[in-house]
Amino acid sequence: MAIRYKCRHCETEIGTLPFESAKETILQLQKMDEGEEERYLTYEQDGELTVRCICEQCEQSLQRFPDYYTLNKWLQ
Ligand SMILES: [Zn+2]
Repeated sequence: MAIRYKCRHCETEIGTLPFESAKETILQLQKMDEGEEERYLTYEQDGELTVRCICEQCEQSLQRFPDYYTLNKWLQ
């Protein structure tokens, strides 16, 4: 099983990792509160798992325009 990494801001697919390599991250995410877990982990219908993180581009924009981060609207 491969784990997909997707940017949660712009939906860009960042890449995929074999489950073994992503296991640590996923276990950590699963320990979070339910709401938090849903923000970062998506269980796809085909049984795949998507980890929502941030791509380089969005990270740079957030650093340049931190107001967007506070507004939160932009994130959804
Ligand atoms: Zn992005």
